[in-house]
Amino acid sequence: MQGLLSICAPALPAHTDDWERRLLADPNLLGDIAFAIGGPFHVMYPPRVAVNINGFQRAFERAGVDGVVYFGKKANKAACVARACAENGAGVDVSSVGELNAALSQGVRGDELMVTGPAKSDDLLWLAVRHRALIAVDSLDELDRLAAFTTPAAAARVLLRVLPNGSASRFGMTAGELDRAISVIGASGTVGHESIRLQGFSFHLSGYDAVARAEQADKLITRCLDARTLGHPAGTISIGGGFGVDYVPASAWSEFSDHANGQWFHAGKSFDSYYPYHFPAPGPAMLTTVLEHNALAERLRDNDIRLAVEPGRALLDRAGSSVFRVQGSKTRHIDGHPYRLLTVDGTSLSLSEQWFDSEYLPDPILWPPRPGELTPTCVGAASCLESDMLSWRRIPLPRRAEVGDLLIYPNTAGYQMDSNESAFHELPIPPKVVLHDTGDRLRWTLDAG
Ligand SMILES: *Cc1c(COP(=O)(O)O)cnc(C)c1O
Repeated sequence: MQGLLSICAPALPAHTDDWERRLLADPNLLGDIAFAIGGPFHVMYPPRVAVNINGFQRAFERAGVDGVVYFGKKANKAACVARACAENGAGVDVSSVGELNAALSQGVRGDELMVTGPAKSDDLLWLAVRHRALIAVDSLDELDRLAAFTTPAAAARVLLRVLPNGSASRFGMTAGELDRAISVIGASGTVGHESIRLQGFSFHLSGYDAVARAEQADKLITRCLDARTLGHPAGTISIGGGFGVDYVPASAWSEFSDHANGQWFHAGKSFDSYYPYHFPAPGPAMLTTVLEHNALAERLRDNDIRLAVEPGRALLDRAGSSVFRVQGSKTRHIDGHPYRLLTVDGTSLSLSEQWFDSEYLPDPILWPPRPGELTPTCVGAASCLESDMLSWRRIPLPRRAEVGDLLIYPNTAGYQMDSNESAFHELPIPPKVVLHDTGDRLRWTLDAG
């Protein structure tokens, strides 16, 4: 056993939601869906998105802050997610005409849209104005192009995206550019009756640091107050996304991250960095931390400022999984110990983390459950690329996987499923299946997207 463990990564079991436990415990459902689809697929459970939205809304309520949630749509394309936003009082943050249309078609109203992204196309700007979306303007030339689509009767509602001090980001405007933008907006009409209405400021930081967000938010409040003195109706700040997700328990995560080494990975593979798969104060709890830092909540209230957040990944926590069928299985040896090298019927294009010089670490679940012996297992894709591996690390599966078994990668709705999907090798793009709780049982449909 000791020897086996030296060639096998420790277990990284994902936290699961009730719907996943029901799906895995059902003797037929997963196998029936796999039979009907005949290839890899993703499972979505939109009521969990509702729970996540509600968590953010309650964090705002508890802090006594006027807050609004916009789902960062790039994290998942499924129509059922946009529908869950429309049904639960969340807006959607879009950055292409396709995303804007997809959100509208699921019932999200134009004034519930936030339009972000750099150098937006003319079409996107025009539609955003028509639908009265809130537009996060990224540059002065974008502001000029936007002005051409506005009239006093069809005014644009804008936030100005701020480049945080000392940041090397390619997004946002410098202090000088912001001053210029504010004066351009002021000059575009009589203040108070202009065709571009400056409603506030925004930023989006990479990383997951609550304090950095609180401190940047504080600066944006000051910007709003300054803009108000010039007559602008600046009353909203957006602190973007980047709310962490807790995938695995603390003990499992420290066991992995403290001891990770090439011995645990197929072909001695190594990675420089991973997503922080254990995140102690995730999603809504992180929002609470932001709001409590230096009494940010109080400052927002005192100055009558609305706080927008744009979580992508955090609204998808435990809302979906990805299912592959085992198509081949080999035994290999390392240091005299055997391990299994599987091939599944899909590719790592359906597990996007693998394309960012990293690995998706929550352990896949082998289905159906059967007794057996702990078996170190790596997972390769149905492509002819040596590097196309769903799991380089040897995962301690509870038994030998056989051809026809299913492997369920948990909690993949946030970014893993579809951001890199392609019909590479002329393999079909895995469809999304939506689960519906009909009381006594779960039923399924295909996603409308
Ligand atoms: C990607 C993005 C988000 C969502 O980020 P998450 O890390 O998924 O929460 C929000 N806002 C902007 C502007 C983005 O680019």
